[in-house]
Amino acid sequence: MAASVIDGKAAAAGIRARVAAQVPGFVAAAGRRPGLAVVLVGEDPASQVYVRSKGKATREAGMESFEHRLSPEVSQDELLALVERLNSDEAVDGILVQLPLPAHVDEQAVIAAIDPDKDVDGFHVVNAGRLAVGLPALVPCTPFGCLHLLKQQCGSLSGLEAVVIGRSNIVGKPMAQLLLAENCTVTIAHSRTRDLPEVVRRADIVVAAVGRPEMVKGDWLKPGATVIDVGINRLPTDDGKGRLVGDVDFASASAVAGAITPVPGGVGPMTIAMLLRNTLVAAHGRAGLEAPEDL
Ligand code: NAD
Repeated sequence: MAASVIDGKAAAAGIRARVAAQVPGFVAAAGRRPGLAVVLVGEDPASQVYVRSKGKATREAGMESFEHRLSPEVSQDELLALVERLNSDEAVDGILVQLPLPAHVDEQAVIAAIDPDKDVDGFHVVNAGRLAVGLPALVPCTPFGCLHLLKQQCGSLSGLEAVVIGRSNIVGKPMAQLLLAENCTVTIAHSRTRDLPEVVRRADIVVAAVGRPEMVKGDWLKPGATVIDVGINRLPTDDGKGRLVGDVDFASASAVAGAITPVPGGVGPMTIAMLLRNTLVAAHGRAGLEAPEDL
């Protein structure tokens, strides 16, 4: 039986609508709009697309968008000075520095400079630590979006076997923490894992965040598993435009899985939705207001 396809676009639209519906209440209580500052260094085409769509989505939700575009030669000190200015800017509730940064800039130092209360990407060690010990935290948007899709698809995740493939700080590790907090039995697989297909075969939930096109095959999956494909890989095509595929071989996997996210249209749209949600939550926190429950 073919897997059901999890519609990330529809789920993201639902979250964005709920966030937008909460903005007028915040404006009435705080006397200003929530504000998100996005910093882009350099001219990486993919990053430019992400930053443009983040700005558009922010404005559509009724929030202020502040965009800072810096030259690829910007010094680390200049970038840190901008982050400091945004930290102390009352109109800014969320700060997002688009990664990757040029090689001469220390990414960790830039992330560490962001006020953790404005860290809407959830990459600061304070937020990573809060997530790890079970305190309220700003959670990285992509894994947070994956969790939302999983709960929507499966209901309770308690007791399920989850295998996360990939151990990056922005996807794999926070994903594992979120699944652990939902009482899953969690395995983190990575490039040194022995016999990855055998590890994946025991999973009720598979989250693939690797960056290798169509690596996970249908015969690696337990029948009925729920598969979340985080990967975004562009394969060359004859017309030069390229074709986006995930880390999961959709054709073979969808013949075995119970449910699966497509690429595009699965996890991707959830990342921006969760960014808007995090910005609204950060804005409430900074204004001393209770964040709405139904986000
Ligand atoms: P990363 O390169 O930081 O981490 C990749 C991880 O995969 C590493 O931990 C590595 O150990 C593991 N890995 C590499 N080769 C492997 C192999 N052969 N077998 C098992 N594990 C292996 O990447 P990332 O930033 O975590 O991103 C992963 C993918 O998710 C990329 O395709 C990226 O484009 C995509 N991504 C999508 C979104 C979104 O919004 N949908 C957001 C972030 C990342």
